[in-house]
Amino acid sequence: SGAANLVDLLNQEITAHNLGNSVQVKKTSCHGFCENGPILHIKPEGIFYTKVKPKDIQDIVLSHLVNQQVVKRLLYQDTAGNSYPYFQDIPFYAGQTRLLLRNCGQINPESLADYLAVGGYRSLVKVLQQMTPDEVIEEVQRSGLRGRGGAGFPTGRKWASARKAAGDVKYIICNADEGDPGAFMDRSLLEGDPHSVLEGMLIAGFAVGSTKGYIYCRAEYPLAIKRLKIAIHQAQQVGLLGSNIMGSGFQFDIALKEGAGAFVCGEGTALQASIEGLRGMPRVKPPRSTEKGLWEKPTVLNNVETLANIPVLIQTGTEAYRKLGTVKSPGTKIFALSGAVTNPGLVEIPMGQPLREIIFGIGGGIRDGKSFKAVQLGGPSGGCLTEQHLELPVDFDSLTTAGATIGSGGMVVMGEDTCMVDVARFFLAFTQAESCGKCTPCREGTKRMLEILERICQGKADLKDLGDLERLCRVVKNTSLCGLGQACPNPVLSTLQYFREEYLAHIVEKR
Ligand code: SF4
Repeated sequence: SGAANLVDLLNQEITAHNLGNSVQVKKTSCHGFCENGPILHIKPEGIFYTKVKPKDIQDIVLSHLVNQQVVKRLLYQDTAGNSYPYFQDIPFYAGQTRLLLRNCGQINPESLADYLAVGGYRSLVKVLQQMTPDEVIEEVQRSGLRGRGGAGFPTGRKWASARKAAGDVKYIICNADEGDPGAFMDRSLLEGDPHSVLEGMLIAGFAVGSTKGYIYCRAEYPLAIKRLKIAIHQAQQVGLLGSNIMGSGFQFDIALKEGAGAFVCGEGTALQASIEGLRGMPRVKPPRSTEKGLWEKPTVLNNVETLANIPVLIQTGTEAYRKLGTVKSPGTKIFALSGAVTNPGLVEIPMGQPLREIIFGIGGGIRDGKSFKAVQLGGPSGGCLTEQHLELPVDFDSLTTAGATIGSGGMVVMGEDTCMVDVARFFLAFTQAESCGKCTPCREGTKRMLEILERICQGKADLKDLGDLERLCRVVKNTSLCGLGQACPNPVLSTLQYFREEYLAHIVEKR
C-alpha cells in the first residue's frame, strides 16, 4: 500500500530538516491492522498514525518531529468518531493478547540484532544449557500446547512419539503451506518474526533428536520466503544453525523448500512427498509420520504458529503459559479476520474468548451498519456459524461441537447481504479445484456436488438435487482418503443445517 515509498520520503524529509541524528526510520513488518495501513508508529511516545499518504510526510515531520504537535487527522478514528493517539487504546488492539505477534510491527524482521534485543534465542540458550531433551518434551506436554494447523493434536505427544521412534535420522518440518482462502496468519508470522519460528524448530530438533529441519513454504509467499532465507543465513553465520551450536554438541540445520501452491500439500504426507520430489499426493495412514515420515524416517510436522509458541512457553514456563486460554486449549490463537467486518486484520486472542468479542469488540462489527449473518471458520474445511453461536468460546472443542472447526485460523465474516448457498458453492469450487484426484469419492464426488450447487445457485435445481447433495456430502466425508476430501463437505453441511431455507428459496424460485 505504498509503505516502501513512504520510508524513502520520510528519510528525505528528515535529512532536509537536519533531524538525522535524533530520528531513525525503521522498517517493520505488518501491524495486522489491514485496512488502516500504511501505519507510522512514532516511538518512544507511541503516537500511532494510520492511512499515511505521501502528501502527509511533510506534515508529520514538520508538525510532529519539529514542532511536537500531533497530526490529529492521521489518528485512527472509530465509527463513533472517537480518535485514538495510542495504538494500545484502539479497540482492535485493546481486545488482543499479542503473545506470538509481540514482535510483528515492532522489530525489523530482517535484523537478527533486533530479535536478540527483544530476548530472541533466549529459550534456545535455556534449553541447551539447562534442560535435557526429555525435560523439553515434558515441558511442552505439560503446557498442553495443541497443534495450530487445524487438528489440535497435542504437540508434546507428537514430539514424544518421534523421540521414541527407532532411527538415527529424524526430521523436523515446519508446515508453512498455508492455503485456506481468508488465512494469512502464518504468512504474517514468517514475514514479521521469522527467527521465532527458527528458534521453535531448533528446540524441536533438540528435543526429538533431529539434526535436519525443512520449512515448506508456498511460493506465493515471496516476502516470507525472502525473510526466511535472510533469517536462516543470519543464524548460520553466527553459529545458531550448523554443528556444535553454542558449544553444546547439538547439531541442526534448516533448508527451505518452496511449494508450488497445491492446497493438498498442506496435508502432511502430501507435503513430505513434495519435499522428496514426488507429486504432492496424500498416502494412507498409518504409518504415522512420527514413525515413518520424510524419506521413511521419523518426522515431526508442526505448523508455523505451533512452532512460534515454543520459545514463548519455554521462556515463560508452563504455569504462566497455561494461565492464557482454557484448560483443554491453553495459550493464544491468531485469527485472520476478514470479510464484512469493520476492522479486518490479524488478531491474537487467548483461546476461549467468545466469538462475539472477536467480531464485534476487536472487529468493530459489520461494516456500513449492516447486520451480522454468519462467520466461516476454518476455511474450506470448516463450517459456518450464525448469530446463535456468538457467545460460543473460541477453542478447539467448542467450535467442533457446533459444526465448525478452529482450522488454521481463517475467520470470514458475512453480513446480511450474503447468499449462504453461494458461500458453500465458493468453498466447494475451491476444494474441487484443489482435489488431487487420487481417490474416487473426492475426485468425482466434489465435481458432482459442485455441479448441483451451481444448479441451485442458478435456480435450476429441484428437491431431488438437494437430496443428492446431502447424500454425496455423507459419502465424500466418510470415504475420502485425506482431510481435504473428508472435510470439504463441511461448508455445505453447516449452511444446510443453519440456512436450509436459503437453499429451498433457490429451489422454490425455479418451480
Ligand atoms: Fe486427493 Fe481428495 Fe483423495 Fe485427498 S481426498 S487424496 S485430495 S482425491
